[in-house]
Parts: sequence; C-alpha cells; structure tokens
Amino acid sequence: MQIHRHQNLLNYNTFRVTAQADYLVEIASANQLQELFSDKFLSDLPRFILGGGSNILFTGDISGLIIKVNIPGIEIIDEDHNFIWIKAGAGQNWHDLVSYCVDNGWYGIENLALIPGSCGAAPIQNIGAYGVELNNVLDSLEAFEIETGKIRTFCNQDCLFNYRYSIFKDHLKGKYIISSITLKLSKRPEFTLTYLSLNDYLKKSETEVTLRSIYDAVISIRRSKLPDPKELGNCGSFFKNPEIGEERYLTLKSSFPDLKAHPSGPGAFKLSAAWLIEQCGWKGKRIGSAGVYGQQALVLVNYGSSSGEEIANLAAEIQDSVAEKFNVSLVPEVTII
Ligand SMILES: Cc1cc2nc3c(=O)[nH]c(=O)nc-3n(C[C@H](O)[C@H](O)[C@H](O)COP(=O)(O)OP(=O)(O)OC[C@H]3O[C@@H](n4cnc5c(N)ncnc54)[C@H](O)[C@@H]3O)c2cc1C
Repeated sequence: MQIHRHQNLLNYNTFRVTAQADYLVEIASANQLQELFSDKFLSDLPRFILGGGSNILFTGDISGLIIKVNIPGIEIIDEDHNFIWIKAGAGQNWHDLVSYCVDNGWYGIENLALIPGSCGAAPIQNIGAYGVELNNVLDSLEAFEIETGKIRTFCNQDCLFNYRYSIFKDHLKGKYIISSITLKLSKRPEFTLTYLSLNDYLKKSETEVTLRSIYDAVISIRRSKLPDPKELGNCGSFFKNPEIGEERYLTLKSSFPDLKAHPSGPGAFKLSAAWLIEQCGWKGKRIGSAGVYGQQALVLVNYGSSSGEEIANLAAEIQDSVAEKFNVSLVPEVTII
C-alpha cells in the first residue's frame, strides 16, 4: 500500500477544490486493507473512504486518513443460458465497466453510461439515471468490516436500496469498505425506455433500438446537458429530488400550476429540484468562482478557484430560498465533508 503525507486533494475530487489530507493511503487489494488496519497508528486516525471523488465536497483540510480504494479487476464468475454474473473490483472505473459490458453484449447497465466514479461507490447511493438504478442489476457485494477485519457478503436485499440510498449511507455508515460488486446482467435484449428524454432522442434519431444505440444515446444526452468535470469542476446533481405526500403536492400545485413533479409511489410525488431552484432565480447565477450551471440548475460548478466552503455556502443559500418560496427542504445528494 502506498502512503502519502500532507496530500493535496485537488486531483482527488471532481469539484476540483483544494484541501489537504494529513495522510492518504492507496489500497490496491483486499489484503492491503487487512495490512492497513493491523497498523495501530494508521487505524487509530479519523478516516474517510474515497473512490473517484465525484460525489463529495471537501470544505476544509482533512485531519486524519483518506483511504483511496483502487482495487482493480473485472471477471466473469458465473453464467447460464440467460444471465451472466460479473464481478468488479471497487476501484474499477464505473463507466469502463459499462463499456465493457456493452462491448460484450450484456444488457442492464447501458442506461448508466458515463456516470463518473468507481464501482465500489456505486452501491453507496444506489446510482441511477434514465430509469435504471444499480439495485436493478446488483446481485451482491463484498465489503471489509473495519471492526473485525473480515470480508462480508451482502446480497441485494441486505443493502436496503432506495432512491439515492443504501444501508451504507445510514446504519452501516463508516463501518464497511466495499471491495467488490457482482452484477447479474442479461444475455438477452431487455431495454428500459421509460425515461422520456431517452425515448424521444431515440425516436428522433430514427436509429434501431439496440444495446449500443441506447448506450450511445445516453452518452450523447449526458454530454449535452452536464458539464465535463475535466473542464468545469462539479459533482453532477447537487441535491436530491424531494419526495412529498399527495396532500402537500396538491396544495403546492394549486399555488404553482407549472410545478414539475411525477408520481413516485402510492400517494407520493417527486418534485423536480432543478425546477424549484430555477424558479428561485438561481440558474446560471455565479457568486465569485462558485455558480449554478446555466444549462442545468441542479448542478453547482466551480469556475476555477472556488473553495469547497464557497460552494457549500452557495448550496445553503439555494436551500434557504427554496424553503422560503416553496416550504420544501432540499437535501444534498453530495456528501459534504
Ligand atoms: C458529471 C457528473 C454526473 C453524475 N451523474 C450521476 C447520475 O446520473 N446518477 C448518480 O447516481 N450519480 C451521478 N453522479 C454522482 C457520482 O458519479 C456517483 O455518486 C458515483 O457513484 C460516485 O463515485 P465515486 O467513486 O466518485 O465516489 P466518491 O465521491 O469518492 O465517494 C462517494 C461516497 O461513497 C463512499 N465510498 C466510496 N468508495 C467506497 C468504498 N469502496 N466503500 C465504502 N464507501 C465508499 C465515500 O465515502 C462517499 O461517502 C454524477 C457525478 C458527476 C460529477
């Protein structure tokens, strides 16, 4: 394992903010996790687990240890006539895994193309896009239990997946380090085309609906809507879409007839956080080097020299104005540290 002291985290987060960690250790195998936690000094430090840094905002220096999980590898662990089980190391890049599966003709994660980050972080918030969530394909995962040093297997149901949620964000937060995930993918065509913009795109382009054309369409739509973190620091959607009950929804709808929302379950509605933010006048606004992206109000961006604190302050101002105008709380999707 590689240990760095006084490590600048600028290249370890897609917001591209500067922060310094006392220690950063790069982990390339599950065995190195055992080695790390048998070191009394390192294992006693306050710690934070890091993948690709595409869903976190550092608001200051980190006194303690950053554990950067780089465990590589993709392998087929089982297959039958209809399905294939693919295991990926936690440090494997998610989009590379999607591309690999599409190249091999395996169905299930093509709608999740171009989501930045690592495979190990994908279950943490149950990544989702264009009508598909990780929980639709995750068979199981392996995780290192920090207290005992043992590897435990979690099946899909153990993870208690929900919208941008898993048990690792809550009861088991900080207790496990995910070392690998196993997906169950289909060998037969199975498409998810419930998402309007994806459907429209495919219809307009008049291409045949195939695994490859969906993958290409998702990449193309995402590139037209979202800033590339290599060019403009960001973490994708900063807030979750708030879910409210039917009564609240009807009251809000009568005050704001244009309210953007869709049914999300029995008696529940998901509001478009982007619409709420836009209605408060934030879209395209900039405060210093931090701002709200002009093409998508849910994305906060770093125009170059913003600190994490400035971005967090901007997020707080947005939350306040949405609460004031709509009496709705916006909850960050991004982990603020
Ligand atoms: C341009 C852009 C677009 C995005 N679009 C989407 C989208 O469409 N849908 C979506 O769901 N997300 C999206 N995201 C958010 C992000 O890509 C995902 O949340 C991704 O899974 C984060 O992966 P990461 O490796 O960068 O995790 P990090 O940001 O490094 O970490 C995220 C969280 O996971 C924990 N963690 C990381 N690795 C491990 C591990 N091995 N074991 C235990 N805990 C771990 C961290 O402690 C942290 O709490 C987008 C981000 C960007 C920048």
